[in-house]
Amino acid sequence: GREPGPGVATRSRLTVVSGPSGVGKSSVVGELRRLHPDLYFSVSVTTRAPRPGEIDGAHYHFVTRAEFDRMVEAGELLEHAEFAGNHYGTPRAPVEAALASGKPAVLEIELQGARQVRAAMPLAQLVMLVPPSWDTLVSRLTGRGTEEETVVARRLAIAQEELAASTEFDAVVVNADVRQAATELLTLVLTPSSD
Ligand code: 5GP
Repeated sequence: GREPGPGVATRSRLTVVSGPSGVGKSSVVGELRRLHPDLYFSVSVTTRAPRPGEIDGAHYHFVTRAEFDRMVEAGELLEHAEFAGNHYGTPRAPVEAALASGKPAVLEIELQGARQVRAAMPLAQLVMLVPPSWDTLVSRLTGRGTEEETVVARRLAIAQEELAASTEFDAVVVNADVRQAATELLTLVLTPSSD
């Protein structure tokens, strides 16, 4: 394999978890947090309205569009993307602080953001979470019941595109069982990419 140079080894401890909406990313990453609370889990900023039960500062930092734009302009976001009409981004400083302290960092973001991280940090590890079948994904997205029908349709269309991009990823984890998927993900997170 490649000998990591100065600064490279820490960058390789960044893992991006992506995958279509409804695949269970939040559940799997939540289980990963339970298995290994010492990892750094990024809290994104979003212009989306909070869903029932979501806590500002824990699930997301909920911000106005003006504040989001200000953060983009100020270069405060490591990556950012528009997804189904809302804006999402990863605050840069906390991720860099975690990596600098040698802590593995985990980002749970969609495809455009994953590609931006890949471009900015070539040694970041990209993991795609996929459903056991397309039907599983459709029923999970329909059954969530918190979104309007048009929103679900949009998310399904995006999901199809995201699944097709799995070839760009370093690893694919099938989420048939949350515990099992989280265990596989943990192994990947703790094994910095090398080739
Ligand atoms: P949701 O609205 O369902 O919470 O998230 C919608 C999508 O945005 C999900 O695929 C989620 O992973 C993604 N997402 C959440 N935070 C970020 C972020 O900071 N950057 C990017 N690019 N996507 C994000």
